[in-house]
Amino acid sequence: MSQSPTSTSSLATADKAAVLAQTLPFLQKYRGKTMVIKYGGNAMTEPVLQKSFAEDIVLLQLVGIRPVVVHGGGPQIENALQRLGKKGQFIHGMRVTDAETMQVVEWVLAGQVQQEIVGFINQAGGRATGLTGRDGALIQARQLKVADPANPSVLHDVGQVGDVTAVNPAIITELQDAGFIPVVSPIAYGAQNESYNINADVVAARLASALQAEKLLMLTNISGVMDKAGQLMTDLSAAQIDAFFADGTLSGGMLPKISGALDAAKSGVKAVHIVDGRVPHVLLLEILAGQPFGTLIRAN
Ligand code: ADP
Ligand code: MG
Repeated sequence: MSQSPTSTSSLATADKAAVLAQTLPFLQKYRGKTMVIKYGGNAMTEPVLQKSFAEDIVLLQLVGIRPVVVHGGGPQIENALQRLGKKGQFIHGMRVTDAETMQVVEWVLAGQVQQEIVGFINQAGGRATGLTGRDGALIQARQLKVADPANPSVLHDVGQVGDVTAVNPAIITELQDAGFIPVVSPIAYGAQNESYNINADVVAARLASALQAEKLLMLTNISGVMDKAGQLMTDLSAAQIDAFFADGTLSGGMLPKISGALDAAKSGVKAVHIVDGRVPHVLLLEILAGQPFGTLIRAN
């Protein structure tokens, strides 16, 4: 009985070879380069996407790229606080993080979410290492004061929410040199050794800048940045972003994401993309197939 060429997959053998051959220019371009990947949203909770994400990270490292993962976890924190019967209080979209809430944030991010991701990557054959911004004095922060949108001179205290003051990426490069894949939780330390929770997009952007990364990819739960009419913007300039901020096109989690993305682009990260984390193997498609996905953020 003759074996059908499509018996093991939908691609014929010759097509597989063609696909692999087409990755050559990308492999040549990106070998030895650092890429920071913000991992969040659906990609972090759906088993099929968890698996494809972990496989992509391991494959990228095997072909000589140096991936760094920064993870989020807002929904997981919310869930844990609810189970503990703690009601969240929000000021202008920011969770008021008292000492008890901060403890839960650290348990969930560093104890649960980060270690799950480390496990998936290791299961896929990689050697992931979890750390927070405390490890190796990676990320220092001070308390973030939130300006009142109606009266910007009024500053609100939202507790242990941090504003990054310094990034010392030595621990990351040491781990990369030793063949480990760093998985970073968005927690920083303060001058008095207090802990701060920081938006994971902001941490990813600051780390990408400090590492002068080749790419910053932010995986999210939407196809990319949408305009007022709900149309996907494949490309956004700094001027368009300013206009989007001013006319209210951006809201909620997209605000820190875009400002982080723009800061990273302006500070020398070569390519910054906000991509759809719901697409399986989106990292391979974007990095090794040159497939434009989501929104490219331009520095000017
Ligand atoms: P994550 O940080 O996990 O990627 P967030 O919820 O923090 O997810 O941020 C993404 C969300 O931002 C989207 O799901 C969407 O609801 C919201 N958003 C606000 N404005 C826009 C916009 N103009 N285009 C796309 N998403 C937007
Ligand atoms: Mg977010």
